[in-house]
Amino acid sequence: MGVEGFVLIERTGNVLAFNTQATLHFGIPAPTRLEHGRLPGCEWVRADGTPLPPHETPLERAFAGEPVDATVWEVLRPDGTRAFLRGTAVPVQGGDGQVAAVLLRTHGVEAPPGAVLEASRLLAEAGALLGESVDAESQLELLLKLLVPTLGDGALLILKPPGEPVRVVASLHADEGRHGLLRELLQRYPPDPSMPGGLPEVFVSGAVGRLCIMSEEHVAAIAQDTEHARLMREVGPHGCLSVPLGARGSILGALMLLRSNVLHAFDAEEERFLSELAHRTALYLENARLLREAREAVRQRDEFLGIASHELKTPLTPLSLKVQLLQKQVVVLAREGKPVPTERVAETLDVVQRQVRRLSRLVDNLLDVSRITAGRLRLELEELDLASVAAEILYRFAPAAAQHGTELELDAPVPVVGRWDRLRLEQVVTNLVSNALKYGAGHPVVLSVEGQGPLARLTVRDHGIGIEPQDLARIFERFERAVSDRHYGGLGLGLYITRQIVEAFGGKVGATSVPGQGSTFLLELPRGDIPEEWLIAHAAPGPTSD
Ligand code: ADP
Repeated sequence: MGVEGFVLIERTGNVLAFNTQATLHFGIPAPTRLEHGRLPGCEWVRADGTPLPPHETPLERAFAGEPVDATVWEVLRPDGTRAFLRGTAVPVQGGDGQVAAVLLRTHGVEAPPGAVLEASRLLAEAGALLGESVDAESQLELLLKLLVPTLGDGALLILKPPGEPVRVVASLHADEGRHGLLRELLQRYPPDPSMPGGLPEVFVSGAVGRLCIMSEEHVAAIAQDTEHARLMREVGPHGCLSVPLGARGSILGALMLLRSNVLHAFDAEEERFLSELAHRTALYLENARLLREAREAVRQRDEFLGIASHELKTPLTPLSLKVQLLQKQVVVLAREGKPVPTERVAETLDVVQRQVRRLSRLVDNLLDVSRITAGRLRLELEELDLASVAAEILYRFAPAAAQHGTELELDAPVPVVGRWDRLRLEQVVTNLVSNALKYGAGHPVVLSVEGQGPLARLTVRDHGIGIEPQDLARIFERFERAVSDRHYGGLGLGLYITRQIVEAFGGKVGATSVPGQGSTFLLELPRGDIPEEWLIAHAAPGPTSD
């Protein structure tokens, strides 16, 4: 146990001795005299926080001649914190047989009686609070209210889930003035992981941190400017305990408790309690996140099912109309004993074939997505010339482009050879070109291919509707679209599949765009393990150059 606090007070109220430990216990510097029969600013209180009447305080009782052997005293210090002290107050008799002085001896007590019960009550209350709403974050402010001022004068919660920016989600100070200042401080100078010491140590080490923050040296060390320093000084020096919000192996944030009495350190019991509370809070936050994600996935799936059924139904309507029409004609002509004209049959079959092709493309896309999700995208690599593949795809699109008055241009002066999977490579180029035709119909589309050392590049440039900057990254995700399905049909899978294939090749794909003026999709593929001389563009042509 700690060192003993030692205080000797004369009958007259003069304090003859007051050692350093007593300074810590009572939270005051050594006084010279009692004030109104009390140690300056200190009050003996009951467990419920109400002050003891003067004649019941240990000092008065001892001056009255009674040796007081304490169980545990609770003392309210000038800074508002409570100390739990085990101690004795012994009357010292003078020569006249009267009490001449009182000797007070104190020991700090780790946990106040009933602390264990109190901790379980707080944990239960915190659990009820966090469980009240599926949005656990909205409850964090209230959670801090459970802790302030019982355990600290102030508290804050900082969240930094993996891959997300740092956010201060709640802060509270028992003192109204400091509450405002703390808020202002955190708002104007939020924790900044890019600054040295800008993020509490607990995020780095994952271990509980004890710090005397906002002391003069600390202010000087971390202040970004004079305004920052001023705010920190005005909030005042605090002792700080930071505990990690850890759940399922990752640290989501930190709970920080502040104490204005920097001499009154957080004890082991309090640290254990706060760590447990932080852990439970982290679990609630993590569960809330999982729930949000699951709901979002269900929403996306429902939306996708809506679009998918609509897309699958669209080709079926003309297909079944054409077949019905032909059927009727067959019946009528048969009744009249006439043969069915071949051109009618051919016309119907043409529609049937086109719509069946469209349906199988949709179904293929869906199958690809399930293959990708299951990690079953297999590649069969062979030596290919990307320039020839591009030319072939453009050739396939020529009739459709001509129909919409879209000019197709190829800029691929030399072969660019690499090792890729032919069908998958064709699929990627097809997706990009078909999008360019779909979203840029009537305007020229240019396809360029070039080799740059170990990389092959393909760009598809159109002059169509373009893409808003905020959508550029999103459109490569599953089911993501940046157009209304009333104007353009589609499942939002083409670019997702494209990106997955390109990444399986070890390459990358991205887009740039000026909305309203067109988009450029750039594909970069490593050429793989091919003979050195083929890597040099404009040099030795590859095997498919003829
Ligand atoms: P889909 O075309 O079936 O919607 P994609 O995955 O191919 O699916 O494309 C996703 C989204 O990206 C499209 O819905 C569209 O908003 C946008 N997009 C793709 N290519 C282009 C382009 N060339 N010009 C403008 N927008 C495009």
